[in-house]
Amino acid sequence: MGEKHFIFYNPPVVNRQLGIRRSSVLETRKLAARLLKQGVQTIVFARSRVRVELLLTYLQELVKDKLGDKTIRGYRGGYLPKLRREIERGLRSGEIRGVVSTNALELGIDIGQLQACVLNGYPGTVASTWQQSGRAGRRRGCSVTFLVASSNPLDQYVIQNPDFFFNRPPERALIHPDNLLVLIDHVKCAAYELPFAKGEQFGGEPLEDMLEFLAEEKVLHRVNDRWFWMEQSFPAHNISLRSAAQENFIIIDTTHGSRVLGEVDRFSAPTLIHEEAIYIHEGVQYQVEKLDYPEKKAYVREVSVDYFTDANLAVELKVLHVDKERSSGGLFRQYGEVTVNAKPTIFKKIRLRTHENIGSGPIHLPEEELHTSGYWFWFGEEAAAGRSANDMQCALLGIANVLVHIAPLYLMCDPQDIRVVPQVKSVHTQRPTIYFYDRYPGGIGLSERLFEVHDELLEKAKSLIRNCTCLSGCPACVGPIEEVGLLGKSHALELLQAVEAAV
Ligand SMILES: [Zn+2]
Repeated sequence: MGEKHFIFYNPPVVNRQLGIRRSSVLETRKLAARLLKQGVQTIVFARSRVRVELLLTYLQELVKDKLGDKTIRGYRGGYLPKLRREIERGLRSGEIRGVVSTNALELGIDIGQLQACVLNGYPGTVASTWQQSGRAGRRRGCSVTFLVASSNPLDQYVIQNPDFFFNRPPERALIHPDNLLVLIDHVKCAAYELPFAKGEQFGGEPLEDMLEFLAEEKVLHRVNDRWFWMEQSFPAHNISLRSAAQENFIIIDTTHGSRVLGEVDRFSAPTLIHEEAIYIHEGVQYQVEKLDYPEKKAYVREVSVDYFTDANLAVELKVLHVDKERSSGGLFRQYGEVTVNAKPTIFKKIRLRTHENIGSGPIHLPEEELHTSGYWFWFGEEAAAGRSANDMQCALLGIANVLVHIAPLYLMCDPQDIRVVPQVKSVHTQRPTIYFYDRYPGGIGLSERLFEVHDELLEKAKSLIRNCTCLSGCPACVGPIEEVGLLGKSHALELLQAVEAAV
C-alpha cells in the first residue's frame, strides 16, 4: 500500500458564545472542490440523502467550468440499479472524477480505488469510518482522508479525542439475529452465493419455513431438496438494515411524460416526499406535486428554486411490555416493547448556501406506526423537586440531545438508527422520562445495549456538558439555545447533579 494520511478537521468556531462552528457541509464542499480541481479523484461521504444531494449540487456548480458536466455524481439508496451501475463503471474507468455518497458505497461494490476521501461528519462508528476511508488508497502513490466534524456532540467528541478513534478496535456488529426481517435479508444474501439444501441451518436457526416463504415470493426456486436464487439482481444492493421493512415509495418524474426517478423507504417518505417537498435527485431539484399515499407513489416535476425543505415530525410513544427493569445511580430504567406513532407536522423552507429559514407550510399525512424495542429512564421525586414544567422540559431536551448523539459510541449503528423522545410527564412512568427506540420494526438490539451501558452513558453525558466551553448551551452539548432555551445547559446539568445528590 502507498502512503495514507488521515486528517481530522474541525471547522473554526464563528460564534464563541453560541458555540457555532462554520458549517461542515460548506467546509466539505471547499475541501472536495479543491481536490477535484487539482484532478484528484475524490469520494465524499455524507450522512443523509439530503446532504448528499446538497453537496452534489454545490460541487457540480463549482467544478463545472473546469471538469465539465456529469463528472461529479451522486450515489445513494433510492437511485435505480441501472443508474448505479453506470456510476460504478464511470468511477472504475476514471471518467467520473468525483462522487458524493451515503454509506451505500461503503461496502461490497467495486468502484476501484480513489485517491481522496472526504467524510462530512463522523459516520457513527469506527468500523464505518475505516470502511469509508478505505475507498481511497492505491498500491502506489499516496492517498488522503479528511474527517470534517460538524457541531454535534458525537462529532466533537471524536474530533477532540483522536485516541478514541485511532486506538480502538472497530465495534462488534450489533444485529439482532432473531429479528426475522434481518434474518430474511441475510438468508437471501447467502442463497445468492450458494443454494441451500434441506436441513441446513443459518446461525443456528432452522430454515425450511423461511426458504419455503422465499420460494413462494419467487425469490428462491425449489428443485427437489435444494433452493436456488432466482431474482435477477444481486441481493446486497437492496439489503441494508434500512430495508428491514421493504415497501418503498416510488418517485415518478412527470416533467416530460412520466418516468420512474427513484424510490424512498416507507419511514422516510413522510418527511422526504410530502407534497411541496423539494426532492433532489442527482443534483436536480424536483417539487413533489402529489403524493399518492395508498399507492405509495410520489409525482414530481423539475423546478429551480433557491431552497430545500426539512420536515418536523411529531412522535408519540407507548409502552406495550416491560422486559427488563433496573435501578442504579438514582435513576430507574426499563427495556421493552414499544409502539411509536410518527406524524409529520410542518416543513420548513431553507435557503441554499446560507441555510436560513425562509418559510414553512403544513403537511397533511396519516401517521406511521412502528412496533419496536425501546429503553427509557425516569427521574424520581427528589431529583425533580422544585422544577417548573418548562425548566424540566429544557433539561430533558438538553440531556436527550447529548445522549442521542453519544449513543452511537456504544452501538454499531448509523446515528439515524436510534431515536430519542423526552417526555415531561410520561403516561407509562408518570415521571419525567427519556425514551430511546430502535428505528426498525421489531428492534435490532440498540436500545437493549443502551439499557446495559446506561450508567456509563449518563456519566459521559454529564462530563460532556460540564466540560463544554460554551456559556449556555451549544450544538456540541445540549443543543442550540433556540431549542433548549437560555438556561438549557444549566437546567440539564443541575438535573443530573440532583440525581447524583439523591443517591
Ligand atoms: Zn456547549
